[in-house]
Amino acid sequence: MDFSDARNEDETCEVLVVGAGATGLTLGCDLARRGVRALVIERSDALFPGSRGRGVQPRTQEVFDDLGVIDAVRAAGGPLPRVLSRLPDATRKVWDLVAPAPARAGVPYPVGWMLPQWRTQEILHARLRELGGEVEFGTALFSLTQDQCSVRAVLTRADGSTRTVRADYLVGADGGRSTVRAALGVTMTGKTLDRRSSLVADVRLTGLDRGNWHMWTRAPGDTLSLCPLPGTDHFALSVPIDEGRTGEGPVDTSPQAVRAVIAARTSLPAEAVLEVLWTSDYRPRAALADRFRVGRAFLAGDAAHIHSPAGGQGLNTGVQDAYNLGWKLGRVLRHGAPPTLLDSYQAERRPVAADVLELSSRLHHSYRGRRPAVVRRAAQTSQLEIGYPDSPLSVETRHDLPEDALRAGHRVPDTALAGRRLFDLLRGPHATLLAVGRPAPEVRAPGLLVREFAQPALFEPGLFLIRPDGYLGLATRDPAQLPAYLALIGRD
Ligand SMILES: Cc1cc2nc3c(=O)[nH]c(=O)nc-3n(C[C@H](O)[C@H](O)[C@H](O)COP(=O)(O)OP(=O)(O)OC[C@H]3O[C@@H](n4cnc5c(N)ncnc54)[C@H](O)[C@@H]3O)c2cc1C
Repeated sequence: MDFSDARNEDETCEVLVVGAGATGLTLGCDLARRGVRALVIERSDALFPGSRGRGVQPRTQEVFDDLGVIDAVRAAGGPLPRVLSRLPDATRKVWDLVAPAPARAGVPYPVGWMLPQWRTQEILHARLRELGGEVEFGTALFSLTQDQCSVRAVLTRADGSTRTVRADYLVGADGGRSTVRAALGVTMTGKTLDRRSSLVADVRLTGLDRGNWHMWTRAPGDTLSLCPLPGTDHFALSVPIDEGRTGEGPVDTSPQAVRAVIAARTSLPAEAVLEVLWTSDYRPRAALADRFRVGRAFLAGDAAHIHSPAGGQGLNTGVQDAYNLGWKLGRVLRHGAPPTLLDSYQAERRPVAADVLELSSRLHHSYRGRRPAVVRRAAQTSQLEIGYPDSPLSVETRHDLPEDALRAGHRVPDTALAGRRLFDLLRGPHATLLAVGRPAPEVRAPGLLVREFAQPALFEPGLFLIRPDGYLGLATRDPAQLPAYLALIGRD
């Protein structure tokens, strides 16, 4: 194929998003609401059909609140069911996978919410369309090149036709086998966590109540799990396949194999399985891309980090990547922020992904050790404690703060503000400047909401600039700090 000299005819966009999984769709929504001209392409002809990433963590629910999809997510999903384990000695045990947590101050969504991934993606896709965006299905990234000014991508369609698109920036949200990552020459460092592959499927079946997450434990780590999926009459099956196998070669994912494994490892007969809706297999791996950015191209979601499903972190971490990158691209493209703002994406997100990998790998091995009932993981897996205190975008100029003070880099919790909720004020694509116990400085910057408050409990007197993704960027008592900070994140 010769694509030289096509420059003048190239179609253009500001951001080319490769992949319409949860990561690409979240980014698409965030860019669309910022008025950024983005093209989201997806190799498949339709959205992903399986339930695999089904735990929506508390921090992700806050992101979905900001993006305007939380009501749909809450209406379609349900709470995590209690686990009913059948042990090898025929005893039964009922336990909570995550310790129940009541609503608490600053945390409107204290526990994970269960929703099949296909439904989450449907909701994000509908929101993207509502915001004026679109996914171009059946279009794959074939190759890319870049120079100082743009990225040039060659796209292919199933009928063999190709075209080139020139974009200011490109984001590879194209999953664990990322074409973008390969094209950028970025390597992944990691390891396989299990010699066995697992069979996963969504099924309709009879003979099981939908009030529990059913597990049959035969030997340490050898658990067949059937989890009811809220809003549907489906169950999600997950089971390691190891009998006489070395873990090499493909797992049989046929409907017959699904029926056979359920009949062999549970008390249900094969005929109890009425329909097999989707099947797949996977071998748990933990791997991290050595870079999240090369020039004008970025990696996000599974393209940048692959986790064990233990702890339900993968989809959530991808959503958070997109949420971190979206506003930065928006401010560079719309508000005159220096392109160096985009350096903070890797600086902030790669250490987070490394920690998440460590956590999900640890949980993976603890499950294999058959002690899941003692894993009290809500605080770690909620992603509420993630922050960016060491980021170049976190500017804290106050001293002598109490140990538990809210500091630059921390997630800003919800709080009451003169009869309103802080989250209501933050909702939307803007940054927010709170002048607490002092007058707000004269500042005119599009995309910046300025408000004065006497003194809400959460904040000491001072100036607090809250980034569009809800983290405290600048915390200071000195108004002279503000212009320099606005120059960092764009003020045009
Ligand atoms: C069994 C299982 C259970 C899981 N449970 C959870 C859970 O409870 N919670 C959780 O957070 N995560 C969970 N995960 C992980 C979660 O599913 C993934 O982390 C998530 O799908 C990643 O989203 P993504 O958008 O980054 O990538 P993907 O979902 O892989 O999406 C990438 C998209 O890019 C498209 N694409 C690929 N190449 C190209 C190309 N060249 N051009 C155009 N498009 C392309 C693909 O078709 C795909 O639609 C689980 C995973 C498994 C396997």
